[in-house]
Amino acid sequence: MRAKVQEWAEYSIGLVPTMGALHAGHRSLIERADAENDLVVVSIFVNPLQFGPGEDLARYPRPIEKDLEMLRGMDVDAVYMPGVEDMYPESASTRVMVGSVSELLEGASRPGHFEGVATVVTKLLWAVDPDRAYFGQKDAQQVAVVKRLAADLDTGVEIVVCPIVREADGLAVSSRNAYLSPAERAAALSLSRSLRVAAEMYASGERDAGRLRARIHEVLTAEPLGSIDYAELVDPSTFQPPGTLAVLAVKIEKTRLIDNHEVSKPFPG
Ligand code: AMP
Repeated sequence: MRAKVQEWAEYSIGLVPTMGALHAGHRSLIERADAENDLVVVSIFVNPLQFGPGEDLARYPRPIEKDLEMLRGMDVDAVYMPGVEDMYPESASTRVMVGSVSELLEGASRPGHFEGVATVVTKLLWAVDPDRAYFGQKDAQQVAVVKRLAADLDTGVEIVVCPIVREADGLAVSSRNAYLSPAERAAALSLSRSLRVAAEMYASGERDAGRLRARIHEVLTAEPLGSIDYAELVDPSTFQPPGTLAVLAVKIEKTRLIDNHEVSKPFPG
């Protein structure tokens, strides 16, 4: 990858890091990268470091032929698909720790997750040396962690954040939606429903974070297949309460889903 990008020294490069199982969310990142750069590199790597014990690393979908077919139909100049042994030979022990923004919510719920994310993103930025790297607002806290690391490590890479792509009924598109049975797929709508309700409350004048939070919990709890991991209103850059970014992690039976919305803005659709 390094040798390739050295040949491309005079061009601007946009990097889109993914774990594959590509969908409309990834597509939107790639299209934005294509519009803003001479060349686009997509990485596909299911990063074992960001999965905890008992999480879905082994069963995470890896439809590689289908992914490559989608990428062949787009303006992508290189696909970087390192193997696990290439990224983490047995001797490798270095880890990137971002500190406070990585410690709450998703960080608290998935110990080691953001250390794994930060380590792989740092390695990808080194390998590809892009001008810009593209991330989805779907993973809101990941965006905050990556922005922090890109600035703190003097990477000079611009971190571009793309809006959440949703299905017509509001469900945020995710590779993990493939785990859902039809009944669970219907139950998963409780996440977007609760965000919509909070945005509507805000629009009608509600500013009390406690009442907005309580209403979100009420909507989520009404769904019998769902159990709340967290649902909070936080500041989007520090991830500390109080704030107007509603962030959710909810288990629908065995599948853990995340979603978020800035409640001061209308919910789309
Ligand atoms: P993943 O392959 O799940 O690690 O996601 C790769 C990138 O795509 C991350 O920056 C995600 O935030 C982004 N992404 C995933 N789902 C969506 C979505 N529904 N809308 C926008 N971006 C997304």
